[in-house]
Amino acid sequence: MPRTIFEPFRIKSVEPIRVTTRDERKGLLDQARLNPFRLHSDDVLLDFLTDSGTGAMSAHQWGAIMEGDESYAGSPSFFRLEKVVRSITGYKHLIPTHQGRAAEHLLFEIAAKPGDVIPNNTHFDTTRANVEVRGCEARDLPTPEALKPRERHPFKGNIDLARVEALLSSEAHRVPFGMLTLTNNSGGGQPASIENVRAYKALLARFGKPLILDACRFAENAMFVKQREKGQAERSVREIAGEIFSLADGCTMSAKKDGMVNIGGFLALNDDALAEEARRLLVLTEGFPTYGGLAGRDLEALAVGLEEVLDEQYLRYRLRTAEFLGEKLLAGGVAIVEPTGGHAVYLDARDFLPHLAPEQYPAWALTCALYLEGGIRAVEIGSVMFGKRLPDGRETYAPLELVRLAFPRRVYTQSHFELAAEVIVELKQKAREIRGVRIAKQSPHLRHFTAELDWA
Ligand SMILES: *Cc1c(COP(=O)(O)O)cnc(C)c1O
Repeated sequence: MPRTIFEPFRIKSVEPIRVTTRDERKGLLDQARLNPFRLHSDDVLLDFLTDSGTGAMSAHQWGAIMEGDESYAGSPSFFRLEKVVRSITGYKHLIPTHQGRAAEHLLFEIAAKPGDVIPNNTHFDTTRANVEVRGCEARDLPTPEALKPRERHPFKGNIDLARVEALLSSEAHRVPFGMLTLTNNSGGGQPASIENVRAYKALLARFGKPLILDACRFAENAMFVKQREKGQAERSVREIAGEIFSLADGCTMSAKKDGMVNIGGFLALNDDALAEEARRLLVLTEGFPTYGGLAGRDLEALAVGLEEVLDEQYLRYRLRTAEFLGEKLLAGGVAIVEPTGGHAVYLDARDFLPHLAPEQYPAWALTCALYLEGGIRAVEIGSVMFGKRLPDGRETYAPLELVRLAFPRRVYTQSHFELAAEVIVELKQKAREIRGVRIAKQSPHLRHFTAELDWA
């Protein structure tokens, strides 16, 4: 078999990329007040802002869109999706939502109460927000290796079982269920092992608590298990994913990730009473139970996407993409979070820009420089996102200054990633010239989306 890992698809429909000059980009970035979120996407050459809902659908999915049945109740499109979800997850009840956060909202409304604590490897930001709005505490208990960016460990998405046990031993009455995010998005797209899921499940079961997965990237996680976990290489990804789902009692899902669609999500559960509760609420906030927050055509596209994402040729290429860019960056002397995750590569901005102090927001400055240098849009995961201005005017800063390059599914080709590596490695040579930034205007919540900045 040839060793080259290639894009396992041909391109039928293309979108032109607008090429801008550095001078144009300088003007556009100034107009955007040095905030990449404020750029227009057609002024971006390589858009690595997020992998959420940005993927390309297949010809088969576009065909399925025409098959969508838009009946208000009892649409065959729902039953088609229900069959696929059941065959992959084994869960009895499917509750479709418009995206992942709506499924999270339903889950915490029906299964948690104010004062509860939810353990997770790391809550994604919308999950944390939904936990906190419910008056609960989102407790992140990642394995200790997850906090060491340079340490290569195959399963940095594992949950720290010792700390879960300590929580359950002292405060089991406050824990309604355990969660696990696959892969751990906020922790670098890192996978959890089957062994860790199994032990977590057994621990929760000892205290009579269910396990709910945040399954957004379940297929990428299953492929990592096949590649890295002892005794798993000969199993199919579908079998591995099936076993992981079988160890839990339900899941929330953003179909904008491993559902391979541009919008969609669901909550899936085994428990009849909980599912009934969820549907009661679904009718109020999303829609009738056989469409939830989606059109019939969306349900069809998702039913196909969930099958396509389990294609091992696709997953091998998918995980190789991040690894490929990571290797080129490391060879060029650029520090990244290692090993690379499933959907993204994270640059270590503190290492890239050692001359900038935290109050000059090095990771944010690096996202601006990436756009100026090569038209690349990335997202800051540093002190603009996670720091705060306190009421007394003091500033707090994040523990790590990272820049995430997240990859839309089936959208960019190998030469796009070669280009990205070239731009970033060249930028590293003149990193000393990159200035810091300061925040000119900000809102009290989620300030990174709208902030206006100046060069410091
Ligand atoms: C994207 C994401 C969500 C939220 O899903 P949306 O579809 O954006 O609402 C939840 N958890 C994880 C891990 C995610 O990556």
